[in-house]
Amino acid sequence: MSAVPSLFPQHIIARKRDGGALTQAEIEAFVRGATDGSWADYQLSAMLMAIFLRGMTPGETAHFTRAMMESGRVADLSGIRMPKADKHSTGGVGDKVSLHLAPMVAACGVAVPMISGRGLGHTGGTLDKLEAIPGFSVNLSFARYRAQVKRIGLCLIGQTAELAPADKKLYALRDVTGTVECIPLICGSILAKKLAEGIDVLVLDVKFGRGAFMKDRKQARALAQALVRVARAMGKPTRALLTAMDEPLGRAVGNALEVAESIDCLRGRGPADTMAVTFALGEQMLMLAKVARSKAEARAKLEAVIADGSALRKFRQMVAAQRGEARVVDEPERLPQAKLKVPLRAARNGFVQGVDAMGVALAALRLGAGRSKVEERIDPAVGLSALVKIGERVEKGQPLCVIHANDRKRLADARRMLTQAIAIGRRPCAGPSLIGEVIR
Ligand code: URA
Repeated sequence: MSAVPSLFPQHIIARKRDGGALTQAEIEAFVRGATDGSWADYQLSAMLMAIFLRGMTPGETAHFTRAMMESGRVADLSGIRMPKADKHSTGGVGDKVSLHLAPMVAACGVAVPMISGRGLGHTGGTLDKLEAIPGFSVNLSFARYRAQVKRIGLCLIGQTAELAPADKKLYALRDVTGTVECIPLICGSILAKKLAEGIDVLVLDVKFGRGAFMKDRKQARALAQALVRVARAMGKPTRALLTAMDEPLGRAVGNALEVAESIDCLRGRGPADTMAVTFALGEQMLMLAKVARSKAEARAKLEAVIADGSALRKFRQMVAAQRGEARVVDEPERLPQAKLKVPLRAARNGFVQGVDAMGVALAALRLGAGRSKVEERIDPAVGLSALVKIGERVEKGQPLCVIHANDRKRLADARRMLTQAIAIGRRPCAGPSLIGEVIR
């Protein structure tokens, strides 16, 4: 007589702890437990750690992703005639690309209904960045989300009680339990949101390097392949681009500071590295959505919407639609400002050899730009701006960055951490090559 499988949390956790492959019913019980609160946080956290340590087979990952997606409503945007595309990054430092790429793509005639996440581990989150805009709401009802995509072709929101609620719960727990860097958990988390939002096609930015969850390119490729495989199996044409994340993207890290840098990108004044990643992802989105036949055609369209101001107008329209103060688009000084703005100066002449993205992220966290407990509030104003880039020449006394802080003790700690994160040497050196291969 075969034993009846138990769906008690402690038994499912123990099976995974011991390296077993979970059944679809067990995985569904876990995801249901996260959604309806029937599993306690400590049980969910233990399960996350067991998955982190033991992994999941491709079959378990597919069941997990589907259960996460079906934890809420799956949006049907088929009544909206424009093609619908989205992009998602596996997370980096200073990665504000979604903020300006989404309006650029929408201005090219492809709707972008985007469900994003908050900061996770050491990385920043699109929702936290958007909330730095006074009044901006990322909590829209499904009806408003749909209506806004229909009206302006662009909406950026968070997981709700309706859309991928299991991810909202598990994401917050992973952030503070050391269970972020795990291929099946990342797959389920990203794709639950992306497949629930009603898109036709998806482009993923899978990052590798010191500031990414996947430290080397091989791991990143494995994550990209898993994401593309599961998304395809669920009927979504998907491509993943591998991009390097050894130094922060752009020159700003911190929520309001990154919004200001994204506005610069929309004005055609974005940092070269940020724009290289933005264009590479945008090209894939326009090609997959079939509004461009080649990279060159897609690139020309994306450049045109920056040059004629239509991408910036789209961003302003979205901010207003989501009750944000639209004047920040023209007057970024209206974004929250830190009390202390202090330059960190170079101790000697030389060339920037390295800007350790992880070190910078930890300094930004220390300033209050991220969370170390679920209930912690982030400070939208703090972070760094005017950060030097690898390969740049610096003179002794020149600012390597400006630290934005609201607390002197935290400022002193961040200064120490940043001094260690930025390496200056005598030899000239080249900047990193950012864009890797496309996984189809
Ligand atoms: N982004 C997500 O939405 N989830 C992850 O797990 C990692 C990055």
